[in-house]
Amino acid sequence: MTSAPGVHARPLTEVAPGVWTAVAETWTSQTTVVVASDGRCLVVDPGITVAEVESLARAVHERGWRVVAGFSTHAHWDHLLWASSLGDVPRWSTARTAALAAGALPAAAAEAETVAPGHDLMLLSRLTPLPVGATEVPWDGPQVLVVGHDGHSRGHAALVVPGARALLAGDMLSDLEIPLLDVDAADAIASYDAGLDLIEEGAHLHDVTVVVPGHGHVGDAAELARRFAADRAYLADLVDGRRSTDPRLELRAGR
Ligand SMILES: [Zn+2]
Repeated sequence: MTSAPGVHARPLTEVAPGVWTAVAETWTSQTTVVVASDGRCLVVDPGITVAEVESLARAVHERGWRVVAGFSTHAHWDHLLWASSLGDVPRWSTARTAALAAGALPAAAAEAETVAPGHDLMLLSRLTPLPVGATEVPWDGPQVLVVGHDGHSRGHAALVVPGARALLAGDMLSDLEIPLLDVDAADAIASYDAGLDLIEEGAHLHDVTVVVPGHGHVGDAAELARRFAADRAYLADLVDGRRSTDPRLELRAGR
């Protein structure tokens, strides 16, 4: 497990004890590294471009950390990337995400090649499904709870790190993106709403004070509450057929 020569270390920020993030240029995508006291770490959604993923591996190595597991929050291509420099380790996801990702591999590969060319596509979507009934990531670092739900993508998982009071929200609860619905779902809006309820329950239970979205900026407890309210208001507008004034619509138009 070595980094390519000439690759710079990606800047990492500790946003909660043992929870480090790096932000990608593409779509303000957030990568999270959960680090145990002895340097073993779990990498969640490692980045978008080849340079970003390689420089993440460099940063991990330079700090003396060792990747022992990965996690993909859901089955969209930009959350299924990996590089050999991060190591040949289990890359966990929910069982439904693993099945979806396997079924959509050609499309994911095509999208990756279009937006972030050059990845080793043999490593794309190579996920290990969580054991049936698992409620946490099976690794021996800090406890990381899995909140499985639908709404954005079937089998999407938000993660709660209770010891750090941190929520890794995947593609939910962004300050930059409106709720992006799973258009294949039978009742997409209700499904998304139910997903928000489950995440909020987990966040409340563990007194979360830091939220890390898949795309957007890290926020505190007040910001998390604001995002729950904004997402629910957006969904309510959809249900009632009102024109939404959510400012994130303007940001999306510019994406
Ligand atoms: Zn997504």
